[in-house]
Amino acid sequence: MSDRPQGFDTLQIHAGAKPDPATGARQVPIYQTTAYVFRDADHAAALFNLAEVGNIYSRLTNPTVSALAERITHLEGGIGGVCCSSGHAAQIMALFPLMMPGTNVVASNKLYGGTYTQLTHTIKRFGWSATLVDFDDLDAVRAAIDDNTRAIFCESIANPGGYITDLDAIGKLADEVGLPLIVDNTSATPYLCNPIKHGATLVVHSTTKYLTGNGTVTGGAVIDSGKFDWGKSGKFPSLAAPEPAYHGLNFYEALGGMAFTFHSIAVGLRDLGMTMNPQGAHYTLMGIETLSLRMRKHVENAQIVSKWLENDPRIDKVTYAGLESSPYFERVARICPNGAGALFTVAVKGGYDACMKLVDSLELFSHVANLGDARSLIIHSASTTHRQLSDEQREAAGASSNVVRLSIGIEDAADIIADLDQALTKATA
Ligand SMILES: *Cc1c(COP(=O)(O)O)cnc(C)c1O
Repeated sequence: MSDRPQGFDTLQIHAGAKPDPATGARQVPIYQTTAYVFRDADHAAALFNLAEVGNIYSRLTNPTVSALAERITHLEGGIGGVCCSSGHAAQIMALFPLMMPGTNVVASNKLYGGTYTQLTHTIKRFGWSATLVDFDDLDAVRAAIDDNTRAIFCESIANPGGYITDLDAIGKLADEVGLPLIVDNTSATPYLCNPIKHGATLVVHSTTKYLTGNGTVTGGAVIDSGKFDWGKSGKFPSLAAPEPAYHGLNFYEALGGMAFTFHSIAVGLRDLGMTMNPQGAHYTLMGIETLSLRMRKHVENAQIVSKWLENDPRIDKVTYAGLESSPYFERVARICPNGAGALFTVAVKGGYDACMKLVDSLELFSHVANLGDARSLIIHSASTTHRQLSDEQREAAGASSNVVRLSIGIEDAADIIADLDQALTKATA
């Protein structure tokens, strides 16, 4: 094949996969194995020394999982990546090589509920901390950064409030202060948004959502742009100084642009063990083949359904960035040119009680703590995913008690609307 770059629709099917060299199997086989036989003792030693790349043990690498990591890496335009057991695992895996006790991450205050809790409470047990600020206020972001900051973290399309981060502005700021920018691209997927083009150093995913697209398995991925100079500031000793956990190897010196990826496998997966299993990778590989087709339909349906809701007298507000009424409408064309995703909140007249009744009255929609399924989903964030937050935090995250979050599926738009219509009648009676 020639060197001309392939399009997204081609890469989502072919990147990272070749016919199986042993059997000719066209689909990526599920390599259901724990370990791999070494050719001889020298081969084993070379693998452990990172002198040769190959499979040792499936906590570290597995060919099915590697095919998926390579495919997502291509779709994101990165140079290397690792898959892991969930989106939350991916966030820890992204931070792990960068952080030490006493260091902090500056993050957007508009985040997935679980990420909010992970960053504000759980990571403190590692001696890390997070400062959450409004990422539209660049002065506040700058003011939150101190000598111990090791990363800037945000979501491209933030879950759940229909917020789009101005990645160009944040990417420029990260560059100026010399810190890596980590972007959670779960809600957008690489089909709608390419954070690396806007200055992201690392892109994290919950592959559980749109990338798999069928609600079967949890998974995560961290993709490295390969563009960050880990050695420049002296702030990242695990990557760019002798690492005692890997017989004193300086990953950056030895591996250059692939330092982060190799560190994530050789230290991160080896010692934290947040490994994706090959069966899970298989389901995600199946899903990812149709990612662009699904995302086009998700976006088309979200446009139709959000517009219908916005014009309905039983609704107070719809926060879909694809609507002209959204304060973030201007950012769609610039940050996520293929559409604003399919996730938004709806404020229902009648508040908390009406929301609970709406959730219970829907028939086509599933009431689940998930998003990015082929099916339409709904959840009342305030009483579930964002329950652990204070009222102010919920408000900032776009999850006030009078709103429900919709994840619009790829069914017929008319059927989605009919279901919402009958349920709203009951909820607001
Ligand atoms: C679901 C989700 C996560 C967490 O992913 P899991 O696979 O559930 O661990 C993180 N970020 C966003 C934006 C998500 O939607």
